[in-house]
Amino acid sequence: MPDVKFYSGDKVPLEMHKAKIVQKIELIPIEQRLKAVQEAGNNTFLLKNRDVFIDALTDSGVNAMSDQQLAAMMIADDSYAGSETFYRLESKCQELFHKKYFIPAHQGRACENILAQLYVNEGQIVPMNYHFTTTKAHIVLNGGSVEELFIDEALRVQSDYPFKGNMDIDKLRALIQEKGADKIAFVRIETGTNLIGGQPHTLENVKKVREVCDEYGLMLVMDTSLLADNLHFIKTREKACQDMSIREITKEISDQCDIMYFSARKLGCARGGGFVTDREDVYLKIRELIPLMEGFLTYGGMSVREMEAITVGLEETMDENMINQGPQFIEYMVDELTQRNIPVVTPAGGLGCHVDAMSFLEHVPQTEYPAGALASAMYLVSGVRGMERGTISEQRQENGDETLAHLELLRLALPRRVFTMSHIKYTVDRLEWLWENRKLVGGLVFEEEPSILRFFFGKLVPTTDWHTKLVQQFKKDMGDSL
Ligand SMILES: *Cc1c(COP(=O)(O)O)cnc(C)c1O
Repeated sequence: MPDVKFYSGDKVPLEMHKAKIVQKIELIPIEQRLKAVQEAGNNTFLLKNRDVFIDALTDSGVNAMSDQQLAAMMIADDSYAGSETFYRLESKCQELFHKKYFIPAHQGRACENILAQLYVNEGQIVPMNYHFTTTKAHIVLNGGSVEELFIDEALRVQSDYPFKGNMDIDKLRALIQEKGADKIAFVRIETGTNLIGGQPHTLENVKKVREVCDEYGLMLVMDTSLLADNLHFIKTREKACQDMSIREITKEISDQCDIMYFSARKLGCARGGGFVTDREDVYLKIRELIPLMEGFLTYGGMSVREMEAITVGLEETMDENMINQGPQFIEYMVDELTQRNIPVVTPAGGLGCHVDAMSFLEHVPQTEYPAGALASAMYLVSGVRGMERGTISEQRQENGDETLAHLELLRLALPRRVFTMSHIKYTVDRLEWLWENRKLVGGLVFEEEPSILRFFFGKLVPTTDWHTKLVQQFKKDMGDSL
């Protein structure tokens, strides 16, 4: 491989692609944004995309496809059973993950639903490096519970520890000894740990977790939705892996796992999902549920066009000039914000840039949702739509008390190959303005609060008239039209 330099002189990452098709976006003036955010109950999930300028809500299903992916979609073999498209995807998964079986599902959470139904019994525990919203909900729905065995560094917002996604091996062993192996449904590693800022684990850590699983006869399940970024970090940060190709690292990780499941809305830059496994017993059990819940075994709820796009997308993920794109742009953004003393999660992870709302809005108590308030304020002053990843994303305890999140983060996701450098600079610029005027931002309180996954549909209102004050100050500094 030639040693391509991705940074130009002033550390600006280079896009290793060019635009062929574009979508027009609008920046509506602040008065209209105020109306939009009020109608959305300060919940960025409820904003209409037509009111959004830069959609940094998520990297899920909104990554830009390549010309090769679009071309592949044209040759999809449309049939209910036995489609050639399925066999192409199956064979790509077998090749990259070195596993015998690929089982399709319509998206990542469908895999979680099936795994929880099959393998989580009443009273069982699923130890993991960190939970993900839908994962935890499915485990709890099936009578199980989650134990997070993250390392101390995981929750240190500003850190230079390169692998905050690692699982604490001693804690894992202690938990199994205390509860007994029969109480453990399976061990789960989430690669590219989503809720703590897209933070990676090492290959070595996965191998150590495997050893413990072997000692106690436990299954190791990996959520590989965010594998791409984690692979990049293993290659660039884990000394022992520097000379390995992305393909080799993928295989080594996969060799440690009994089951891998993924959301192809992220991994493979398409839509859909599925499982890979080498174990026939697992394959046969999952296979029974697929036609019942997803669709026939050769499409699993996906369109054949999506499946063709995944096949090409997975191969493109192995391209060392492609896999670094997300992380490099995120790192640039994190560096720019750090230089302005704006608190962000460091080191830069995958998925997006994570602003530390707990420090940003240190005057807003956690029970008034600083991350939610910051997401609302950010949209208001910029038209940039981020996502709350904090207490609103948690569920109340049975007695009605809040589950205060470990971290209060405003996530500004950077979907792969979608935004340009000027979009990033604009976002940094508006965040800087908000930082300077942060004292104007207040808290939020629920007006409508669903009992599960409340962050999707819940509606909130400001605790004071801070929206009005923020808008007044913005207009004073920027004028009415922005
Ligand atoms: C997005 C995501 C999921 C869920 O995948 P969907 O395709 O959105 O259902 C599961 N786990 C992780 C780590 C994710 O990031």
